[in-house]
Amino acid sequence: MTEDCIFCRIVEGEIPARVVYEDEETLAFLDANPLAPGHTLVIPKHHYGTLGETPTEPGEMVFSAVHYLTPLIEDAVDADATTVAINNGEAAGQEVPHLHVHIVPRFDGDGGGPIHAITGDSPDLSEDELDEIADRITPN
Ligand code: AMP
Ligand code: ZN
Repeated sequence: MTEDCIFCRIVEGEIPARVVYEDEETLAFLDANPLAPGHTLVIPKHHYGTLGETPTEPGEMVFSAVHYLTPLIEDAVDADATTVAINNGEAAGQEVPHLHVHIVPRFDGDGGGPIHAITGDSPDLSEDELDEIADRITPN
């Protein structure tokens, strides 16, 4: 546990949360400032900052919980869809430095945008640049 981390303190039961799911590795609870009814956060119980800092097994467990919970959340609030997202690092808007996946219920005509609305102008990349980026990402 990291002393001043609010999500570690929720895991330890030191501050209250509306817990909706728990297993050995993960905890899910309602967001305190929901973007929509049913807005839920899924976290690893151990403190990891970003996805890149999270080992394989807890990472897989978090995604397994997200996969399990998403349809339950949609049913619970009668949502038409969900946006599932991580602010993965400070530059992406992460404020709580403990990995968490947002599950945000979406409703027809709710006025929210798609994930494509998160950046300003899209970069204009050439075919060569796209090839080079794909090569760099592909594991050896
Ligand atoms: P992020 O910007 O991705 O780091 O999101 C942090 C989220 O944590 C925000 O949506 C907050 O509303 C939520 N949050 C902060 N403190 C609490 C808390 N004590 N219980 C539940 N959710 C919280
Ligand atoms: Zn933490």
